[in-house]
Amino acid sequence: MFELADRFSGALLGTHVGDALGMPVEGYSPHYIRSSFGEVREMLEARLGAGTYTDDTEMMIAVAESLVRKRGFDGEDMAQSFLENFDPRRGYGAGTVSALKLIRSGVRWDLAGSRVFEGGSYGNGSAMRIAPVGCLYHHDLQKLKEVAFASSSITHAHSHGKEGAALQACAVALAVRSGPGRGLDVKEYLAAIKQFLDPGSVYRAKLQLVEELLQGKAPFDEVVQELGHDSRALYSVPTAIYSFLRHHEDFEEALVYAVGLGGDTDTIAAMAGAIAGGYHGKKAIPVRWLQALERGPKGANYIEELALKLCRLHREIVSP
Ligand SMILES: [Mg+2]
Repeated sequence: MFELADRFSGALLGTHVGDALGMPVEGYSPHYIRSSFGEVREMLEARLGAGTYTDDTEMMIAVAESLVRKRGFDGEDMAQSFLENFDPRRGYGAGTVSALKLIRSGVRWDLAGSRVFEGGSYGNGSAMRIAPVGCLYHHDLQKLKEVAFASSSITHAHSHGKEGAALQACAVALAVRSGPGRGLDVKEYLAAIKQFLDPGSVYRAKLQLVEELLQGKAPFDEVVQELGHDSRALYSVPTAIYSFLRHHEDFEEALVYAVGLGGDTDTIAAMAGAIAGGYHGKKAIPVRWLQALERGPKGANYIEELALKLCRLHREIVSP
């Protein structure tokens, strides 16, 4: 019982930790990061201060608050939750800002996302915030997929965006289910993810690449070239899963690795942090990182409280 709550906390705090660790080097190449900073193992100085979070964590908080408040998914409430939490200083993507403006102007939550770009956004903005969905529905992957798709469509309505969010939620869910005590069978984990994906999903080929790259312990450049490291969901969610799997024995190493890949570092590390945190639990997050996190009204303590509420809700859903 206690163990599960620790994993929920790990997934939510893991998002914050990865976001904060990656943000100061966002947009840089792996080479530039290595030559200028070496390995990023400490919270570097950032625009809002070392250890602060960006839109990734702010939106993850909004998702968790809404799930807890409504005891499950409610699109209208989640959209309002995004608006209530919105702080432009956190560095939101242009597509998300446009979708939230539409919602504020009265457009329905399930219509705004498809009006942002032609066909909707395929960015990773709905995958980066999905950890609470992965935790809450880790026992029921069908329900998880439904909620991931619907929650994504509020801002990211393109199929790549929705599938990316569902894939990331599934990666978190399987990590929460596995747990380090039982050890991780990487082949089994990847097989379960592939089974989860729709037969025609474009993510299938990426998962195949993840498997191949893991076998050869590929260098940074090859990983970036094959999997990508930008803000499109298709070119970042598999990268985060790869980072976790490459260092599944150690939370810290998985995140340092994810940040070292460069590009959309805050989001890739936030997603890798959610998976690794769900797997290892909060107890595996380095104390120096936890101590560096935000302590404001919606800081690390608040995020942990949300994780515990989410865990209570999960138990009530599973055995009413
Ligand atoms: Mg961000």
